[in-house]
Amino acid sequence: MPAVLFRYTNDLRIDAHRGLQAAAALGPVLPVFIIDRAMEATFARSPRRAAFVLRAVDALSGDFRRIGQSLIIRRGPAGASLRRLARAVDAQTVVWTARYDPASQHADARLQAELEEAGLRVCSIHDSPVVAPEALPGPAGGGFRSFAAYVPAWMQAEVDESPTADRWLACDLHAEPRPQDWDATEPALSVPDVEHPDAAVDAFLGGPILQYSARSKTPAVAGTSHLGPLLSIGRIAAHDVAARVRARMRDPLLLAEERASLAEFLRSLARRDFFSQLAWFSPLIGDEAYQEKMRDFPFATTHPHLDAWRTGMTGFPLVDAGMRQLRATGWMHPFVRRVVASFVCFDLGVDWRIGRDEFARYAFDDEPVSATGNWQWAAGVGADLAQFPRIFNPTKQRARYDPDGQYVRRWIPELATELLASHESEQLGLPLFGEQTYPAPIHSHERAAQAFLARYRAHRAAKG
Ligand SMILES: Cc1cc2nc3c(=O)[nH]c(=O)nc-3n(C[C@H](O)[C@H](O)[C@H](O)COP(=O)(O)OP(=O)(O)OC[C@H]3O[C@@H](n4cnc5c(N)ncnc54)[C@H](O)[C@@H]3O)c2cc1C
Repeated sequence: MPAVLFRYTNDLRIDAHRGLQAAAALGPVLPVFIIDRAMEATFARSPRRAAFVLRAVDALSGDFRRIGQSLIIRRGPAGASLRRLARAVDAQTVVWTARYDPASQHADARLQAELEEAGLRVCSIHDSPVVAPEALPGPAGGGFRSFAAYVPAWMQAEVDESPTADRWLACDLHAEPRPQDWDATEPALSVPDVEHPDAAVDAFLGGPILQYSARSKTPAVAGTSHLGPLLSIGRIAAHDVAARVRARMRDPLLLAEERASLAEFLRSLARRDFFSQLAWFSPLIGDEAYQEKMRDFPFATTHPHLDAWRTGMTGFPLVDAGMRQLRATGWMHPFVRRVVASFVCFDLGVDWRIGRDEFARYAFDDEPVSATGNWQWAAGVGADLAQFPRIFNPTKQRARYDPDGQYVRRWIPELATELLASHESEQLGLPLFGEQTYPAPIHSHERAAQAFLARYRAHRAAKG
């Protein structure tokens, strides 16, 4: 049987891999990872994410070595590299897993055309979502536009098993050393463990998942899975995690709240799939607002306090703690992300794309469609049907979800001994803290929110 090239992108594992499995069904597989210009551009945008991805590539190379196989690494244009490799091993087919953001969809379509012109067959497989977009075509065949309608269909959908591929091509090609350019960035930053990804899944499914409902909205505790970074590079498979959670739900001895927690965690995975299918069926999950009426809404491109937002110095503790957590760890608690996003879009009136790109510089879990989908949702320009933007009051949210200030004090040491309630009183400009360096709130949230709403209403009214 002729050899098959499998091109890795953000699916960096061997086990439970639908793409590899499909490739192995066609012939002995040669696994390939190519660092092309587009990938280098994303690496340059976020050196910490580059270091994370390349560590995962090292881990994948190690996984292959252990089974006596090589991961072939190349640097250069993907088309030329794949054509050369196909000639060298006499392969006729190239397989990869589908990507969903418009830029990658476009690049993959161009690459497919180039390879087909060169006489190669290309297969693209849905591996990243739990449920492939085409499996849930929605009421009119163009996917779902509302998460509320999508999620019941998703919960009913079959999740197929993906046995591990075990047919490899024996050849004497060598992997080029992968680039070291990004290794030295931020040595103090602790990168998620790409060597033992299954341990992270086992640890979460082994216990904490059963309290997910109760604990996932409390930023001070580790109540969510933290699996986002590993999912974003495919070091673990969302479909594999979902299959295990579904199996767990069949346990008749579960308490009602444990069952509810498992279901809520599945809902989170469904949200990831929702944005993928939205982008698959409609390339608007890119740089344009999904809602047509909001495409020309005059969001600002800058603001005198934008840098204060970026660096965690707005004087609103929940917002600042979130931004500092992101910078320090590459991850921000999901609930805090909403408040932080609301603040930049509504309090500051700044364009959601600027907020999204700021997150992307620091986050390990930078998944383009999830990032864009969530930022559009947060800015009130996305695919949901909310009548008005959801403007979070950062002070009330802090009081409700971090009542004793444990989370904000962890990230804002300046507040270690301060009374949060008096700090948050928004007494503008008052030097409440004497020698302290942490600022008073930069403005009145109420007034900023009212001003934004007035502009929002006027815009919607003008659009009819
Ligand atoms: C403004 C904003 C920006 C975001 N940017 C990103 C991003 O760049 N990349 C990213 O993967 N997620 C993003 N999210 C979604 C979510 O916050 C993260 O997936 C989550 O923080 C990851 O932490 P976790 O793994 O502990 O999540 P858990 O709560 O344990 O959820 C498990 C998994 O479900 C998925 N998930 C959960 N919530 C969402 C959601 N709202 N949208 C999509 N998938 C979800 C993720 O894959 C997550 O790892 C963003 C959310 C907001 C509000």
